[in-house]
Amino acid sequence: MPRMNIDLHMHSSYSDGAFTPSELIALAEKLDVRVVAIADHDSVAGIAEATVAGAAAAIEVIPAVELSVQFNDLSDVHLLGYGIDFRDEAFLQNLDGYRQRREGRNEDILERVNECLITEGRVPIDLESVLAFARDAIGRPHIARALLERGYVDSVEDAFRRYLVPCNVPKTYWPMDDAIAEIHRIGGVAVLAHPTSITKDLTVLGSTIAELQLSGLDGIEVYNNMGWPLEIEFLRRTAEDRGLLVTAGSDFHGIEEGLEIGKGREGMRFDSTLLAPLYEKINLIKQQAC
Ligand code: AMP
Ligand code: FE
Ligand code: FE
Ligand code: ZN
Repeated sequence: MPRMNIDLHMHSSYSDGAFTPSELIALAEKLDVRVVAIADHDSVAGIAEATVAGAAAAIEVIPAVELSVQFNDLSDVHLLGYGIDFRDEAFLQNLDGYRQRREGRNEDILERVNECLITEGRVPIDLESVLAFARDAIGRPHIARALLERGYVDSVEDAFRRYLVPCNVPKTYWPMDDAIAEIHRIGGVAVLAHPTSITKDLTVLGSTIAELQLSGLDGIEVYNNMGWPLEIEFLRRTAEDRGLLVTAGSDFHGIEEGLEIGKGREGMRFDSTLLAPLYEKINLIKQQAC
């Protein structure tokens, strides 16, 4: 297979991305990214549209999702599922439940943010202004965009630092064993997203990955926009030593400064040689799921 540009982690407007699936495919085409995965939080609603747009542009779309998971005392561990049957009825119902719980949480967070805004002598934000940015799975980035629109913050990062981290309300998380089992049941592989978001302590990270592998984890997102070169090298070696799959994705939402589809930190490009083992594992899991 000739080397191609790929990006296995991006978000559409069906979760907290700014672009529709068709717009993401158009961007990928412009940047000559030939294989993509839209991994929306708690939603697979963008996959069909991306697949149609991708077929017209000769871009392959791998069905994917990103789940927020609880593992031991770690909350909000992000788990990617690749090659999933995104039409599975029970899975869709499960996701629907998580999205509904996000709606209530979103209102609670907005209430807290508004208390801060009032204290600061600012006009609070109404729910409609937030929902104007949201389509399927609501999240804090939608509130960030409303804060940005009002000129209350300079960037999405600024919104998180000043309001959305201090005013956070926990989500309902998938238990890790359930999340991995569910991804496998619908024929997908389970991959740990941006592993350094768990901890920057590489010793702790290494033992967490080992434990996750015992729970059925198939791979880790070695190349992502969060990792610094030393961390990426650690993850690459960990994957190699443990026989875990290696994946690569920008986690592009379209709202972060200086981030492009198909690239990680400092312009690093993702390599398509990782696709063959990924496809092989997806096929193996599908055979076992039958
Ligand atoms: P939520 O799922 O509602 O808790 O929102 C979490 C999402 O917000 C993550 O998946 C990221 O897309 C984004 N996010 C989290 N922390 C930050 C941050 N510090 N700056 C920008 N975006 C962030
Ligand atoms: Fe996100
Ligand atoms: Fe994530
Ligand atoms: Zn993501």
